[in-house]
Amino acid sequence: MSIAESGLRYIAEAPAYEYGGFNPQTVRIAKAALRMIGRLRRQNGVCRWREDADGVWETSCGQEWQFESGGIKENHVHYCHYCGKRVKEVRA
Ligand SMILES: [Zn+2]
Repeated sequence: MSIAESGLRYIAEAPAYEYGGFNPQTVRIAKAALRMIGRLRRQNGVCRWREDADGVWETSCGQEWQFESGGIKENHVHYCHYCGKRVKEVRA
């Protein structure tokens, strides 16, 4: 966890144990920034797709997908529609 993130977490969680801490607007902003960090972290991850001998793609988020024809490139797939992460093709 970065120092920025732990600072935001401190502000977001301070009212729970510190009386008279940060004002509500500051706490709201800190919580929104933490949500944004979480979104960016998910977006920056990759979902690995591996094609088996029957043309079924197994995803690293635990799902399966089959194209009518072609593969990831031919179907212009950039993001996994199950987990939202960027798709990375893995050779079997
Ligand atoms: Zn996925």
